[in-house]
Amino acid sequence: MTSTTSTEQPPAPAQVPLVDYLVLGDEPHLVAYECTSCQARFFDRRNACAACGGTWFERVPIATEGTLRAFTIVSMAAPGIPVPFVAGVVDCDGTSARGNIINVEPDPEHVALGMKVRLATYSMGTDDAGTEAVGFGFEPA
Ligand SMILES: [Zn+2]
Repeated sequence: MTSTTSTEQPPAPAQVPLVDYLVLGDEPHLVAYECTSCQARFFDRRNACAACGGTWFERVPIATEGTLRAFTIVSMAAPGIPVPFVAGVVDCDGTSARGNIINVEPDPEHVALGMKVRLATYSMGTDDAGTEAVGFGFEPA
């Protein structure tokens, strides 16, 4: 006689990234399309490289830590978007990534050019089917 144990597990809550270049999992990270001719990197899918016109791309993982290169403290936004927040451009080991600077007071005393930041994900809410939308930003490292 063999005993049978149910292997059925309740389904894990599904997660979907807000953008398709955000990869979730144990170590969330961004991926870019890298031109195989000139190594230019783009986060959006494109038919040809803006730098050299090449049409072959590889998906490459982007460093999750970087340096804040530019930022704007946004104090006015569309209704429903909490302000102020910090919109930034982060140099991730040579690749520029745009994202909000989160988990920090959104003021010039706490956000500075050259500060070290790292990728962070956060829940943007769960729909009726239990699927969680996940966004990303960068937080002080
Ligand atoms: Zn190229």
